[in-house]
Amino acid sequence: MANVTLPSHPMTYPELFDVAKQDPSLSWPEQLWWAHYAFWDNDILATGVITFLAHEVIYFGRCIPWIIADAMPSVFKRFKIQDQKAPPSVSDQWTCVKYILAIHIIVELPLIVLFHPMMELCGLQWTLPFPKFSTLAAQIALFFVVEDTYHYWLHRAMHWGPLYRAIHRIHHQYAAPFGLTAEYASPWETFFLGLGTICPPLILGYVTGNVHLITVLSWMALRQVQAIDAHSGYDFPWSLRRIFPFWGGSDWHDDHHRYFWGNYSSSFTYWDVLMGTVAGPRGKAMGHNPRR
Ligand SMILES: [Zn+2]
Ligand SMILES: [Zn+2]
Repeated sequence: MANVTLPSHPMTYPELFDVAKQDPSLSWPEQLWWAHYAFWDNDILATGVITFLAHEVIYFGRCIPWIIADAMPSVFKRFKIQDQKAPPSVSDQWTCVKYILAIHIIVELPLIVLFHPMMELCGLQWTLPFPKFSTLAAQIALFFVVEDTYHYWLHRAMHWGPLYRAIHRIHHQYAAPFGLTAEYASPWETFFLGLGTICPPLILGYVTGNVHLITVLSWMALRQVQAIDAHSGYDFPWSLRRIFPFWGGSDWHDDHHRYFWGNYSSSFTYWDVLMGTVAGPRGKAMGHNPRR
């Protein structure tokens, strides 16, 4: 964008997007990205706004299909995992929305504002061009594996009596989870489990000098969708777990909420299989947790 001269008056978002279109070497997402950073004219603010908005839009946007499914039992009840239980009431869903919005604003927003300076400190990029898709995909695959390992051990530790009562109990308020409950947790849990999502890109960026903010945002989006789907309470014939071996999904995490024990990992099943902590009848068949 070096050859483009900007007028002296402040420009609107669409005007800046039109300016960005003058550079044919940029793809349209890159043009939009350039317009966003030019509009805010402050990298900390620009990163904060895009990260917070993406988080809210994806969280509540992804919950909408599950709210609709709960409102249409005649169509969707046959796919419900704990189908003997009543679907969440409007009041349950509304309680979750209010609580999650408060957590997002009180806990996550300050962390999001701090994210840009942390990103600079660790040597991550946010300028154009975007990384190659293959780099983005490989890094996200690595983040899934690392986060799953971190999540397994920390989540398992949170089921130790004192930690469970002090921190994790709130997340287990609903024994039959629904989409909105994915981030229904104590602020401490949101913070400490959230480190497993935020730290791997920062560490990889520090070590390799080759991690871009768009990769971090894509990773956060996929991790959010994964967490919401895992709490949806629905298992479909086309669910990801039936395609990818070792993928947990809703069927897996639902058993964690139902039995209050086992299935501690977030995305994959192998840590629980290896460590003898598979929940429910599946675990019993494998000789895990014989007390239940
Ligand atoms: Zn738990
Ligand atoms: Zn859960």
